[in-house]
Amino acid sequence: MRILVTGGAGFIGSHLCDRLVREGHDVLCLDNFFTGSKKNIDHLLDSHRFELIRHDVTEPILLEIDRIFNLACPASPVHYQYNPVKTIKTSVMGMINMLGLAKRVKARILQASTSEVYGDPLVHPQSEEYWGNVNPIGLRSCYDEGKRVAETLMMDYHRQNSVDIRIIRIFNTYGPRMALNDGRVVSNFIVQALRNEDITVYGDGSQTRSFCFVDDLVEGMLKLMNCEGITGPMNIGNPTETSILEFATRIINLTGSSSKIVFKTLPSDDPKQRQPDITFARNTLGWEPITDIDAGLKKTIDYFSRILACKP
Ligand code: NAD
Ligand code: UDP
Repeated sequence: MRILVTGGAGFIGSHLCDRLVREGHDVLCLDNFFTGSKKNIDHLLDSHRFELIRHDVTEPILLEIDRIFNLACPASPVHYQYNPVKTIKTSVMGMINMLGLAKRVKARILQASTSEVYGDPLVHPQSEEYWGNVNPIGLRSCYDEGKRVAETLMMDYHRQNSVDIRIIRIFNTYGPRMALNDGRVVSNFIVQALRNEDITVYGDGSQTRSFCFVDDLVEGMLKLMNCEGITGPMNIGNPTETSILEFATRIINLTGSSSKIVFKTLPSDDPKQRQPDITFARNTLGWEPITDIDAGLKKTIDYFSRILACKP
């Protein structure tokens, strides 16, 4: 198949491109390199199955493809809040452009949605039926509401124009190729620990997240894309929940670092708890994460060690 991956030079997108090329597909990787990097896909450039397009999803594009994975959107709060208007344009105009393309060429399209559609959840763990608790006017809204509108657009193009859609709600994912300056908790803590710098816990660290290794996520994403007759939304994540303070200690132990934990102001609207209910994915796709958290973190720590060794 000819498969378009928008945001393909990013963290998750580059792992997805790897898998698709390995499976023998022709992959078109589209990216504007806002948070992505050519380094993430450098090793694919020699493959005749791989093509790189510098393009912004907020602009229309004409391509002939069979499938679309729409991942283009900054995912770290630091990056999506840098230019919030551009973030919401990326989610909304990008989604309209990709759905228009899918409709024209009759391609199946998967949207990378997020656990952020649940906001600061009042239901725990979060299942797909929960409508969420999102602040529409806060600092995170450009991302959360952008992704919610993108889901709405997916469902409306499906109902109105019979576009073949898949919506995946991704929970916190980590692994090699997260950017050094990404700003999310996994990369921040690992880089701080490897440099023996202070580990910055925001708030008192009692807020929770559930971390999924990128290979498990990509497996779930492909299973959903290849599954017939379901649109989603479907949660894909690892239900093992941890507090951010426990997570900081885990990183210090795994790296053998002499870093100390320091406490910083909690950003506004930071969700207090997050854990996916993956019953739907388990029952429909037979999918569940298989990577143990320490094993996944060790691979990620090795990656950052190599990157830091190359830095002056
Ligand atoms: P990332 O920032 O590494 O990747 C995003 C990619 O999209 C980058 O390569 C960036 O350059 C590209 N991009 C951004 N705006 C664009 C635009 N206007 N046009 C073209 N390309 C653009 O982030 P990631 O963690 O790999 O996330 C990928 C997708 O998965 C995002 O849509 C994100 O919202 C979603 N997601 C990720 C997580 C996670 O924990 N990593 C959780 C939930 C959802
Ligand atoms: N966080 C932290 N220190 C950091 C970066 C993040 O304590 O250096 C916290 C953040 O406040 C949040 C959690 O870690 O409670 C996860 O943050 P991240 O930005 O990775 O993802 P999200 O909040 O979008 O789930």
